[in-house]
Amino acid sequence: MSFTLAIVGRPNVGKSTLFNRLVGRRLAIVDDQPGVTRDLREGEAKLGDLTFTVLDTAGLEDATDDSLPARMRRLTERAVDMADVCLFVVDARTGITPTDEIFAEILRKRAGHVLLAVNKAEGRNTEGGVLEAWNLGLGEPIPLSAEHGEGMPDLYAALMPLADGFAEAAERAPDEPDLGLPVSEEADEGMQVPTLEKPLQIAVVGRPNAGKSTLINKLLGEERLLTGPEAGITRDAISVMMDWEGVPTRIFDTAGMRKKAKVQEKLEKLSVADGLRAVKFAEVVVVLLDAAIPFEQQDLRIADLAEREGRAVVVAVNKWDLEEDKGAKLKELREAFDRLLPQLRGAPLVTVSAKTGRGLDRLRGAVIRAHEVWNTRVPTAKLNRWLGEMIEAHPPPAPGGRRIRLRYMTQAKTRPPHFVVMCSHPDKMQDSYTRYLVNGLRADFDMPGTPIRLVMRGQG
Ligand code: GDP
Ligand code: GDP
Repeated sequence: MSFTLAIVGRPNVGKSTLFNRLVGRRLAIVDDQPGVTRDLREGEAKLGDLTFTVLDTAGLEDATDDSLPARMRRLTERAVDMADVCLFVVDARTGITPTDEIFAEILRKRAGHVLLAVNKAEGRNTEGGVLEAWNLGLGEPIPLSAEHGEGMPDLYAALMPLADGFAEAAERAPDEPDLGLPVSEEADEGMQVPTLEKPLQIAVVGRPNAGKSTLINKLLGEERLLTGPEAGITRDAISVMMDWEGVPTRIFDTAGMRKKAKVQEKLEKLSVADGLRAVKFAEVVVVLLDAAIPFEQQDLRIADLAEREGRAVVVAVNKWDLEEDKGAKLKELREAFDRLLPQLRGAPLVTVSAKTGRGLDRLRGAVIRAHEVWNTRVPTAKLNRWLGEMIEAHPPPAPGGRRIRLRYMTQAKTRPPHFVVMCSHPDKMQDSYTRYLVNGLRADFDMPGTPIRLVMRGQG
């Protein structure tokens, strides 16, 4: 099932660059027809395991900042009407302009589903533009860099639930011959609007033989499988949708389901690289360890990568049924965890047996909780009260006798939580003070097990 995405926005925000990145060389041959379609470039896009048609409205004469030439407005409206989803692109470097506001207005009135992308968000000092984009009232902005290819997993994560919704709607409403009859009320009720409920996206990663396929098969065996295994993001990774006791969940797996799909490959060699790929598409990463040989080099690498990619992490220790002295072992595991993975401080550690199914309820609870934490948004007023207390308890350093002043802070982004602290001399700020703030945020706002990003920024 495919859908159509229109990329809209004022000139120079990077629409064509994004179009080219999504489409690569898969440009559709467009009829040489006069009229509006000539101005709409169309291509077949691929993003992860999604394929869709993408329309580009770029290549128009420049619009001045306070007007939108009629032709551009017509073209945008045309693209909006043709599309299932609109991707509204703004520029992190210029911030929101009056022309952006006009586009936002058109989209609010006319478009069904709108995603908001803030392009050119690579490098430093672009949080301001991202923050500003919230004011458009079109939901959470997705920071991207079309030129550098950054942010594509987030775009994918935003599109995926919509794509699932379209696929479901298409299944429920099979193409019927159009008899030109008026649509009855009953038929209307039968039509389902694409669901906007985003499925939880998880990946199960770990070294070979940790029990990944056993775990996934156990989950799929017990839960309702919503769709069968599909060829996934790459030849090697596969995703399935399941209903995890009422929570729609997409599991990205690597070696596990490949075995099930009877694809014979060098599993041992591929599994780490596959795991790394799956991490990019997941919201919560379940790092599965073998209780007999926990925290091996490979496990640590995968967990560290998940943290660096900004994913929520749950550590599950498998084959717990084989452990004799469970109490002592658990203590040992926790100590090893804190020592070897300090960057994941407080992440949940759950013991399970994929084979017997014990502990899978707790695993589910930990995954859902980790996802919530990852989505945490702390109100600005609360943050600033907290910042005042933190400064009072332990003032920032005073390099060369001049104390660094922390002026205020705000949360720029969730998934994972990103905070920006405005201060004097951000370049002189010591890492130890930043760590003090991060650890404080984690403890005081109850955010265990999620990466927390905090940047210091100078004013203006
Ligand atoms: P369009 O008019 O919206 O289609 O914009 P273009 O794709 O033609 O891009 C306008 C300008 O922005 C070009 O110079 C691009 O190289 C530049 N650009 C596009 N994407 C990015 C990005 O992610 N980062 C930066 N820094 N520049 C970008
Ligand atoms: P994968 O390579 O990570 O997908 O690992 P598998 O799922 O193929 O499991 C590797 C081996 O560990 C198999 O022989 C499984 O039967 C076994 N195994 C997996 N989970 C458990 C468990 O919870 N308890 C026990 N005792 N064995 C397990």
